[in-house]
Amino acid sequence: MVKETKFYDILGVKPGCSQDDLKKAYRKLALKYHPDKNPNEGEKFKQISQAYEVLSDPEKKRIYDQGGEQALKEGGVGGGFSSPMDLFDMFFSGGMLRLKFVVGRARRRERRGKDVVHQLTITLEELYKGSVRKLAVQKNVICDKCEGRGGKKGAVEQCPTCKGTGMQVQVQQLGPGMLQQIQTVCPECRGQGERINPKDRCKQCQGKKVVRDRKILEVHVDKGMSDGQKIIFNGEGDQEPDLEPGDIIIVLDEKEHPTFKRSGNDLILRMEIQLVEALCGFQKVIQTLDDRDLVITTLPGEVIKHGDVKCILNEGMPQYKNPFEKGRLIVQFWVNFPKTLPPESIPALENALPPRTECIIPDTAEEVTLEDFDPEQERRRAQKNAYDEDDEMHGPGQRVQCATN
Ligand SMILES: [Zn+2]
Ligand SMILES: [Zn+2]
Repeated sequence: MVKETKFYDILGVKPGCSQDDLKKAYRKLALKYHPDKNPNEGEKFKQISQAYEVLSDPEKKRIYDQGGEQALKEGGVGGGFSSPMDLFDMFFSGGMLRLKFVVGRARRRERRGKDVVHQLTITLEELYKGSVRKLAVQKNVICDKCEGRGGKKGAVEQCPTCKGTGMQVQVQQLGPGMLQQIQTVCPECRGQGERINPKDRCKQCQGKKVVRDRKILEVHVDKGMSDGQKIIFNGEGDQEPDLEPGDIIIVLDEKEHPTFKRSGNDLILRMEIQLVEALCGFQKVIQTLDDRDLVITTLPGEVIKHGDVKCILNEGMPQYKNPFEKGRLIVQFWVNFPKTLPPESIPALENALPPRTECIIPDTAEEVTLEDFDPEQERRRAQKNAYDEDDEMHGPGQRVQCATN
């Protein structure tokens, strides 16, 4: 039991969900509400970030589960929350994938544009067979007409308004002998310290040095890739003069499949069978994710019980980078029992089935009835009795006590 569910609700998960579920929930929501995509949802983005920060940290999660948000504030976890942007960057660019770039980029790291993250929804079939997806992205590229200068060669001049400082100082008289200096960003050059004479400005980019461009990325989805996996396009992020462009990061988002549920490299299939099939055997055809038909046949005399689990080796998902090795196809059987049987067919059934065990009834036995079980029933009755207690002190209230003790 947890004290509060607010952080769980924000991420749309249940208390007790796995770290994987948590990551997935954060990933989806953070991408959806990121200020790049949803500039008006800053508050929501922050909430998602804070909820994930707490629930993904075992120590903070323990404190929160026990004492809620208040306990976190008092609990000396300290430092408050990370910036939502930092958490986002860490989540999407952090970890193993980033390591290989750090060496070469360490020196100029701060001179690098930011990464752009896109989500790509993908079917289980595509992850099984592998696929090439085309993704159109909008990005800033250096204007080719002016080669990123914003105007003709030599057209860049020191901003006459601020003399190249990018700042403007205004002096205000507050009262006799009292002056106040206010520094503001130069409106003429927007803090750049330089400007391009309007008549020399590049026509293509209007002096902005970059233009918006649509680019088609070919995303190679390899066999066996999984939900949340990242595909990185090095240096394909927004271009800016004098700045090394960041990366475009594609995050795979696996769509739920109507038939198969994936668990690592295994595929899980729930198969409904009739009671007659469970007892007398059956054949069934399973259509694979690459459209082959597999036929399964029970052994003569074999009985499949409700909840039985069997598997077919090497018919699960291909292993990433080793696609000839596949996981298992796990079949969970669900037996549909008939609601009732015609009484005249019972003797024949009894004949075929193993004999019943004999039941000895003591003389003092009491006759009782079996009713359908409803797990909520007791709770509802207890509630009802709590209301009734005012005018009815005895009676049903006592029965609840007997039943729950
Ligand atoms: Zn230009
Ligand atoms: Zn200026």
